[in-house]
Amino acid sequence: MIILLFGKPGAGKGTQAPLLAAALGVPTLATGDELRAAIRNGTPLGLEAKSYMDRGDLVPDAVILGIIKVALSEPRHARGVLLDGVVRTVAQAEGLAAVCEELGQDVKAVLCLDIDDEEIVRRLAGRTVCENCQTPYTGREPGTTCDKCGGNLVRRPDDEPDAIRNRLAVYERQTAPVLAWYREHGTRVAIIDAVGSVRDVTARALGALAT
Ligand code: AMP
Repeated sequence: MIILLFGKPGAGKGTQAPLLAAALGVPTLATGDELRAAIRNGTPLGLEAKSYMDRGDLVPDAVILGIIKVALSEPRHARGVLLDGVVRTVAQAEGLAAVCEELGQDVKAVLCLDIDDEEIVRRLAGRTVCENCQTPYTGREPGTTCDKCGGNLVRRPDDEPDAIRNRLAVYERQTAPVLAWYREHGTRVAIIDAVGSVRDVTARALGALAT
């Protein structure tokens, strides 16, 4: 069971992914987290990705498809995975479909967290994330500690206003068309209202999967 979690930056994907995955009994995979880990570890992948990410541009499809292929081939993902922000271009959707066919897997549904741009700018302006486990927080100062792992909370370079504006434009131009691609290929796309408490949004998303 592969489920795609989709949505603009700041829609709450990073908050909802572990909750939904726990409820569904599958692990999560977020290309953003994989790339940030590569940057922290100073790997060639991290060096290549960093300048794209800091500007809020997408990392090239070939790089992302390499990550997807390796990750989905791992035994821990054999019974299913929740893909958090992993597919952001039509080329990536096509590449994922080819990998799924090779592995005998299938994208069961796309959950799109829906939110307007004004709310996103407000959320991201107050966001910090744990340097260690990537948990996002709203309204917590940089330098305070993560509730989950005790790691240091920092602001992401791509949460600065110019990068946020660019990420939203990139979403409209390159990522939004992916929803139409899945609809055209017969995959169910559920639009989830992402405004409200974390619990309510989780319940809406699980409810959509159950119908
Ligand atoms: P995120 O943590 O999901 O907000 O992703 C942070 C950044 O990582 C994005 O702004 C992109 O630069 C890069 N990134 C993550 N996933 C992808 C992807 N599937 N395709 C291209 N770039 C990605």
